[in-house]
Amino acid sequence: MSNCPVCLSEASEVFSTACDRVRGRFEERWTILRCRTCGFGWTDPPLKEEEIAACYPAGYLGDTLKIMSEFRLGNLQRTRSWRRETEKVRLVERFTTGGSLLDVGCGDGKFLMALDGQRWKKTGVEFNREVVQLVNSTFPDLQLIRGDLFSEELQESSFDVITFWHVFEHLPGSRRVLERARRLLRPEGWIFISLPNLESWQARLFRHNWYAFDDVPRHLYHFSPNSLELLLQEVGLRLITHRFFSRMVNMHCLKHSLIHWSEEQFASRIPYYFLKPLLLGFPLIERMTGRYGMLTSIGQKPYR
Ligand SMILES: [Zn+2]
Repeated sequence: MSNCPVCLSEASEVFSTACDRVRGRFEERWTILRCRTCGFGWTDPPLKEEEIAACYPAGYLGDTLKIMSEFRLGNLQRTRSWRRETEKVRLVERFTTGGSLLDVGCGDGKFLMALDGQRWKKTGVEFNREVVQLVNSTFPDLQLIRGDLFSEELQESSFDVITFWHVFEHLPGSRRVLERARRLLRPEGWIFISLPNLESWQARLFRHNWYAFDDVPRHLYHFSPNSLELLLQEVGLRLITHRFFSRMVNMHCLKHSLIHWSEEQFASRIPYYFLKPLLLGFPLIERMTGRYGMLTSIGQKPYR
């Protein structure tokens, strides 16, 4: 077994296996290795960088055309999926209320759309060329760049906020990515990293049925609060706080993990319906013990 890529400890263990449920490939199994020292996890064998793009099925980002038209009709703003975006906005604005914001892996740009255009200068980077063209031609006040964080169009020391909403665990070279984010941030700029927490009760309880593993092998890494903090420190970013966010995504993940378990054990969803009421109390235990399923780590670039 290999050393931990974050803290270099030799004490790693097999945490679980996982298969690519998003693409319905049940025959291919991946191993999730976990460091016993810092809690960092990684998918083994790792994808080569040139293999990653091919692992994203067409339509992975959903129906962008439909989302655009629903937004213009005002229907999108009444949906659950929109509430997920506005709660992200509220979280960011608890720390800073305006400026230049970069959303990494912005997809169809819903989060950027939810930000107030008077107070925020909005930029997104997204790998999917078609989505970028579609969004840019529909919403001129959004500035989506096709590519990644290393795109030359992004200027160093030019952003007040950089956000990664369930994106960071998909990116190869976590250290290099954070290092680049630090350079793109202005002094005292903020970084928000939201991802599933490998240290959570739900990961431990559901193991291979944990919904966050549905996206393996695209989830290259699996973070614990401790390992994320170590990486932030290493590149010169200061961890301000770990938050239990978002509760809505947390519940979605819990629900689908329970469905996976129910279908695997009983070939039926009936046990899920019986046990579903227990899910209401579960996040309370997660919160009280600090081992929640969805983690958002908030950091800041020091002034000097
Ligand atoms: Zn480690």
